[in-house]
Amino acid sequence: MPHLYAIAIGSNRPHGAHGRPAGVVQAAIAELDCRFSLFEASPLLLNPASGGAGRDFANAVAILESPLEPPAMLAALKAVERAFGRRPCRRWGPRVLDLDILAWDGGRWSDRQLTIPHAALETRAFMLLPLSHIAPFWRLRGALTARQLAARLGKRRARP
Ligand code: ADP
Ligand code: MG
Repeated sequence: MPHLYAIAIGSNRPHGAHGRPAGVVQAAIAELDCRFSLFEASPLLLNPASGGAGRDFANAVAILESPLEPPAMLAALKAVERAFGRRPCRRWGPRVLDLDILAWDGGRWSDRQLTIPHAALETRAFMLLPLSHIAPFWRLRGALTARQLAARLGKRRARP
């Protein structure tokens, strides 16, 4: 039986051919569509750098199906990152393309390489908002759905 995955796509560095991060994320969605069975991609979440200050970044979430188990899926995603010119071993820095596994239909997974659901999911609006847009009822934390986690994050942020 194939598995269902929710994949976070992010870019905060331009690419020679695809241009600004929004173009990179769109090209990455097309690449995932070629390599996997892609069901749906969220709208892009954009944070354009204004006036040269800050960093231009773009994010989206895709839902895809694959027979791969999580470790093989991570390796496949890293191959796509490399194809987009991301240099390995540079965490947190500017990156052309970052592909993370947010969730899969097999529940929790934890080993040295991989934690699913993604460990930072609950605090990252750029992951939760696109995910709740296309898969609002995906249960991520016990009974809590993507939509509920997004609402909870919004309330936390709104507090002074
Ligand atoms: P970031 O945390 O910014 O995504 P990287 O993309 O450099 O940083 O990822 C570093 C490592 O995080 C990966 O090599 C991978 O082993 C590990 N990792 C743990 N959980 C996940 C996950 N759910 N999805 C993707 N990578 C993960
Ligand atoms: Mg990553």
